Amino acid sequence: MQNQQQSPIRCSSCGQTYAIPVHSILDIASTPQFKGLLLSGRLNSAPCPNCGTLNTVLTPLLYHDSEKELLIALMPMELNMNKDDQERLIGTMMNRLPKGNFKGYMFNPKRAITMQGMMNLILEADGITQEMMDEQRARIQLVQQCLEAGSEEALQKVVTDNDAKMDDRFFQAFSLVAQRALEDGQPQIAQQMLAIQTRVVELSTYGKQLLAKQAQQEQIIQEVANQLETYGEKISREDVLSLAIIYSEQDDHLQALVGMIRPAFDYEFFQMLTASIAKAPAQNREKLEKLRDRLNQLTAAIDQQNQRALQGVVGFLQTLVNHPQPEEMIADNLDAIDDTFMAVLSANIQQAEQANNTALSDRLKYIYNAVVTILRANMSPELQFINTILGAPSDEEAEKFIQKHALQLGDGLIEAFHAVEQMLVEQGNAALVGRVQTLRTMTEKVLNR
Ligand SMILES: [Zn+2]
Repeated sequence: MQNQQQSPIRCSSCGQTYAIPVHSILDIASTPQFKGLLLSGRLNSAPCPNCGTLNTVLTPLLYHDSEKELLIALMPMELNMNKDDQERLIGTMMNRLPKGNFKGYMFNPKRAITMQGMMNLILEADGITQEMMDEQRARIQLVQQCLEAGSEEALQKVVTDNDAKMDDRFFQAFSLVAQRALEDGQPQIAQQMLAIQTRVVELSTYGKQLLAKQAQQEQIIQEVANQLETYGEKISREDVLSLAIIYSEQDDHLQALVGMIRPAFDYEFFQMLTASIAKAPAQNREKLEKLRDRLNQLTAAIDQQNQRALQGVVGFLQTLVNHPQPEEMIADNLDAIDDTFMAVLSANIQQAEQANNTALSDRLKYIYNAVVTILRANMSPELQFINTILGAPSDEEAEKFIQKHALQLGDGLIEAFHAVEQMLVEQGNAALVGRVQTLRTMTEKVLNR
């Protein structure tokens, strides 16, 4: 019934010709054993009678699992069949399936061009993904447990009881949950979640290792930064190269160097390195070639990291924290800077301060100031005007500025005032609303409104 036939095959290792029984219609409901054979790579295979090598016949297959409503046609690409022949063959094979109810999914069989591709489709339909989903569900449940712990003591107990489960994937799931809260428009809840996540990192074994590793990396970065400082403002390509050679046996230092001054490793730098490899005495050449390969890898990795732009606010902030030039990244991703981002950033600063993590809170404050500076530079002239007079040390100074610049900006200025006032009202910043209104009245007088 499974359309079995003998197919001659030549052994791939000894050349002996022998016959293998070949199945091309795999109907799992009637012959479930085919599934195991296929997934273990033993379908349409038999050992060579001469040398024992397992050889497999490459043939089109139709896999049908009615219970899973899964129909897959494998047309091995090695057979090089054109589209019409493929369609005809699939039609013929479909006709050989045991007759049963014809269902919608059978009109359009899934296609595979390799055995592995077919296996993946079967596994995917089969609960491997299910298993992964179950694992993920368990992780999310554990995240919920942490979030619902309610007290430091209870949280400590959750961590102690589940320490082994708190790995990289768990913390990814944690970030995911926080990110969802943000996407659902609940920035405050997201902040609380992030604060709890930070605490779990501090309490768990994996998190502690992570923090220790981070501290070590920070120390290396500091060392490399100190070293760079000794070269002063203008570090030459030759200096960069000699530094890279010094660090060629200390990969962490080399990574830190590339991370800090990625732009210095430009085309000219690599040209120079190649030239010095050519000139180097034979015994140094291999070392320099290895260094060049590694530098190529590191620069490519950094470029990729920068491009893999930021999944979500949390990821973006994390990237900024780690980025050697956060200003550039901020300027390139202004659309990612919104109220939510600012809220998360503030929450992280607060959290770092509470945890007495000065290094992190300094870094986050630095980023905060950079964001504010860049946003200000990108403001409309009207907003820059309002911003300036808000920051004026006295009413007299503000008045002077208004008289000097208000007329140039005209009516748009009053509109901008109203927009700012509305925004402040929405934020519940009553104190500042009053100040802005006073400044608007002063401006209106100058504009003769
Ligand atoms: Zn053989």
